[in-house]
Amino acid sequence: MPLSPRKRVLLIAVVAFAALAALIWYLSVAYWAQPVTPLPPPTQGAAQEAVTPAASVTPQTGTPAPAAPSPQAQNDSLDPASALASMRPLIPVAGVRAEELRDTFTDSRSEGRVHDSIDIIAPRNTPVVASVDGRVVRLFQSVKGGITLYQIAASDERIVFYYAHLERYADGLTEGHVARRGETIGYVGDTGNATPGNTHLHFQIYRVADPKRFWSGENINPYPLLRNAER
Ligand SMILES: [Zn+2]
Repeated sequence: MPLSPRKRVLLIAVVAFAALAALIWYLSVAYWAQPVTPLPPPTQGAAQEAVTPAASVTPQTGTPAPAAPSPQAQNDSLDPASALASMRPLIPVAGVRAEELRDTFTDSRSEGRVHDSIDIIAPRNTPVVASVDGRVVRLFQSVKGGITLYQIAASDERIVFYYAHLERYADGLTEGHVARRGETIGYVGDTGNATPGNTHLHFQIYRVADPKRFWSGENINPYPLLRNAER
């Protein structure tokens, strides 16, 4: 039976529509079925870093330089202040009360630097205690910092505590030791670029993007934390 011109047009339209739909369906399936571009093996970079001895890298300054927050750090859900507050950091010098602390975080220092840390004044050989639970990652003697100690928080391996101008370390203290909050790790002194006789602890807290690069990060003011610390 011959179709009327009108029905023929309609039939062509239906067939064309079906063909178009089939084409779209095919393209979408074909697209999603394409293999995802393989990513470079994620272990490559990590493995290279892992075999690099950390000891080959030596912090050159007494005060870790401030660094811009990395994209990685910005992506983290728990902000550094909250992470730190949950550790309840102690005032790291025995016998010093919160009221005695001075906020020296924004003080200027030599070569246009900002202090980015707190100086806690105390007599020579006053015990310096671990502010939080954490591993001693480096015992290091630097020109500016003198006898220094780097500790990484046990509960957040991105937060580093730096203690400088020490008179000496606690007896038997070694790198790798996990110091408990309140444990004596050293003694107040005036080593490094501290004015002779101006015995104090230079105490710095910062957040690193990578725990393997523990000597530099984004500084966090210890003052508000320690101001509320209880012993
Ligand atoms: Zn200082």
